[in-house]
Amino acid sequence: MTDLVSITFLGGLGDIGRNCAAIESQNQILLLDCGQLFPDEMMPGAQSVLPDFSYLEDRSEKIVGCIATHGHEDHIGALRYALDISEFPIYGSEFTLGMIRHRLSEANMLHKTDLIAVADGETVSIGDFHCEFLPVTHSTPKGLISAIRTPQGLILHSSDFKLDNNPVDGRITDLDRIATLSKDPGIRLLLCDSTNAELSGSSISESEVGDGLEEIFMKFQHERIIATCFSSHIHRIQQIIDISKEQGRKVATLGFSMERNISLARSLGVISVSEDDLVDISEIETYPKNQICVISTGSQGEPRSSLNLSAQNSGKWLRIDENDVIIFSSRTIPGNEKRVARLVNNLVSLGASVVNDENLNTHTSGHGQREELSELHQAANPEWFIPVHGELRHLVAHRELAIEVGTNPKNALLATDGDQVVMEDSGLTLNRKKCQGHYIFSQGSIVETGHDLFKDRNILGKEGCVIARVSISGKDKTLIGAPSVISKGWLSADISGRHEQEIEEQLSSELKSFLESRKEWTQEVLEQKVRRVTGTMVNDSTKRRPMIIPLVDILP
Ligand SMILES: [Zn+2]
Ligand SMILES: [Zn+2]
Repeated sequence: MTDLVSITFLGGLGDIGRNCAAIESQNQILLLDCGQLFPDEMMPGAQSVLPDFSYLEDRSEKIVGCIATHGHEDHIGALRYALDISEFPIYGSEFTLGMIRHRLSEANMLHKTDLIAVADGETVSIGDFHCEFLPVTHSTPKGLISAIRTPQGLILHSSDFKLDNNPVDGRITDLDRIATLSKDPGIRLLLCDSTNAELSGSSISESEVGDGLEEIFMKFQHERIIATCFSSHIHRIQQIIDISKEQGRKVATLGFSMERNISLARSLGVISVSEDDLVDISEIETYPKNQICVISTGSQGEPRSSLNLSAQNSGKWLRIDENDVIIFSSRTIPGNEKRVARLVNNLVSLGASVVNDENLNTHTSGHGQREELSELHQAANPEWFIPVHGELRHLVAHRELAIEVGTNPKNALLATDGDQVVMEDSGLTLNRKKCQGHYIFSQGSIVETGHDLFKDRNILGKEGCVIARVSISGKDKTLIGAPSVISKGWLSADISGRHEQEIEEQLSSELKSFLESRKEWTQEVLEQKVRRVTGTMVNDSTKRRPMIIPLVDILP
């Protein structure tokens, strides 16, 4: 019998974000990505949500390395926290490692790892896992598909993936090699990106977006153009630079990460731009408007981005007026719609024109749609399949697609965060909730598990709190002094005092009769009583549900 191999999904199966899986043999664990999830409005205050690392804590000695498939935050953003658990090398393309190097040096964690660059087509042994890396097209350069040889056969991980026959860098997804691997040695298990598994057809090529952008540039030849996109989308940036050059525009960058990523891409030859084509953002006002294109971050309406500040007339370098056109060359991430709408309204109020992909092809997804996914399934022809990288609905749609294109239904498994799949000679079995898959989040300098914290914060945020404090003499069993009630965020200051006073009076009279009628009570019973009286008063007078905090001091 061959040794077992298991895969434990620590994140990314149920959300788009915090991608991380632990591939585990007898003595070794190979991590596959280690990303963060951006918290939504249900997690107020959290800065970053991490994979559930609890599974790794008592297995940290086994970790032999991590493959970083590409440089997006949902794949690399939690590495700095994982390196707190154990030191291990990170494997990825030069560009991906460049992104990681920035992130880890900011966190002062660079010394805890070796960054080991791998090239397209290269095979590297990470512990006992023999990994071959293949090129894949995506919305950031130099992503890698991983073909991982394990004692239980070959695992193929698609990374974030699309098929683009005309990518800006000419580097296409290597389906041919996948087809070869599918014959020899055969693919035991396919793990594949599910983000766009609900969308029929194929995504448009990145170069078609270039055509769309060119049309817009032609239309606005007399205006200054400000194009905003993700700073990791180097190919989009390349196209904007190329079109600007053709039109005789100099390019300036706005936003720290834009400048940093372009400089990384230049140093690795991933982007082609000469010093002559560029101008410093501080000099743009010295050029006629139609000779400038600004490439900017801030496409998600981030409050502190330079674009957002400029839209409110408080930008340092960029003053926007009716001779400016702002092109949104990005998708609005769900949850950011209101911020982006506010940004657009502010830009329009300054007289600027705004173009986004509702009007024209200014963006394409980096994730393949159903036809592209089908092609990958057909090339890989895996024995087993697990959809990854998606919300539950995407995973379900992707599983159905796999069955449509020929995977045996019993071999298409639907796993979610915390589940573990065990590979053995006789087949794969799914163990539900091997770890909890909890949301681990970071805020300030603390990393912790959410549990009820966000429930409390949501109540506090929406309803405020009412604190009722009473002192009781343990000896005489009587109330000492008057109860005191204070509230925060429950009612506006001009009316809260009156309501607080009414509660104080009610508490005083109800507690007096309670204490006279009951000789035996515990602190807990008294707290319940205070909570009930306060809650009833709050509800009767305001029909609101703030958090009630009873404080009972029993004095000797
Ligand atoms: Zn990605
Ligand atoms: Zn991703």
